[in-house]
Amino acid sequence: MSPTARPSGFIFDERCLDHNSGLLEGDLPCPYLEPTPHMDTPATRLRVLNMLQASGLLSIPHPEMPDAPGWLRLPLRVATHREMRRAHSLAHIRHLTRLNLIGGEAGDEAPCGIGSFDVARAAAGSCIELVDAVCSGRIRNGYALVRPAGHHAERDRARGYCLLSNVAMAVRHAQAHYKFARVAVVDFDVHHGNGTQSIFYDSDAVLTVSIHQAGNYPRKSGELDERGAGPSGASYNINVPLWPGAGQTDYKTTWDRVVLPALKAYDPQLIVVSAGFDASFYDPLSRMMLGSNDYRYFTRTLVDFADASASCQGRVAVCHEGGYCDYYVPFCALAVCEELLGVRTDVRDPFLAEINSHPGQDTLFAHQASVIEQAASFVSDIVPPARDQVEVVWSEADSDEE
Ligand SMILES: [Zn+2]
Repeated sequence: MSPTARPSGFIFDERCLDHNSGLLEGDLPCPYLEPTPHMDTPATRLRVLNMLQASGLLSIPHPEMPDAPGWLRLPLRVATHREMRRAHSLAHIRHLTRLNLIGGEAGDEAPCGIGSFDVARAAAGSCIELVDAVCSGRIRNGYALVRPAGHHAERDRARGYCLLSNVAMAVRHAQAHYKFARVAVVDFDVHHGNGTQSIFYDSDAVLTVSIHQAGNYPRKSGELDERGAGPSGASYNINVPLWPGAGQTDYKTTWDRVVLPALKAYDPQLIVVSAGFDASFYDPLSRMMLGSNDYRYFTRTLVDFADASASCQGRVAVCHEGGYCDYYVPFCALAVCEELLGVRTDVRDPFLAEINSHPGQDTLFAHQASVIEQAASFVSDIVPPARDQVEVVWSEADSDEE
């Protein structure tokens, strides 16, 4: 069956709204400022869901088969202990289990409310379910609208609003159940995907590519020279730390010069996307200038690549990460979901004209080009591992009790 004949998949678990991230006093707590709501609120996810429903996208027919639904709603599930252990240490899971009862700071800027660990397990389970549906052929591609995000969570530590590494656990699922030898993770959240990078840093079975704002969060992370390690991992991690102020041309050049060539060189069987929308023009946690049309371009080109690839056969799983502008994230996520299915709704982004008109959007700045070309030079070092099935074994994950 042609990849395009299958439906796209969507998963949303209402429990994600229950994650209580507490109050925020800013980066520099000050006794003269009253606390504000935390940046990571349920509002963005709820607004994305409302946008997807109000636009009619989730009930749209399949573009090639008008009598069939375009979207398959996937069943909810919670990540199991074994699934968590494929990406995290036992100590980390026990730490989160304790905090789940009392709440508190789980690591580095990672608030965990009472019950938040349960929510994080549902978020990770949603990403695993999405990847399973893609790998099994139930769907062509799909979107997991989850919270909390996951790409900052490391094996032993919660970081940056992230408790569990949703994407890493989903990738491990594809390796464990489908034996995929080549999985690519593309992370366009404005912050460095340090957690995903660290979990797969010594492996050639996962290519990790992160485009982010240099020196944002984590501050000393995501440099060009972090390229993987060990006898098999070297060259299978690419970072593109763009300078603040990057606009559409800087990002599109990165995409065309680094991301797409890296995918072509690696020949993945599955692409998992860490989709953060905090590089948008209006985001409070970054200084970048993207609009919904840029996320549309990212997705369109990924889907085209995957559909045309004999190895990938259309498999693209998009997992929601960050994005903190309540009124703009929905337009960005809608653009991504429209391109996954290959349709357009009647919704038009009312902010695009202003975003596109800003000076610099059509310029490739020399300081950005320098970073991009350095990253592009790494692509020629990527060689697809010469095997059809992954050889990863997680004996420790099978040996401890739930
Ligand atoms: Zn982010």
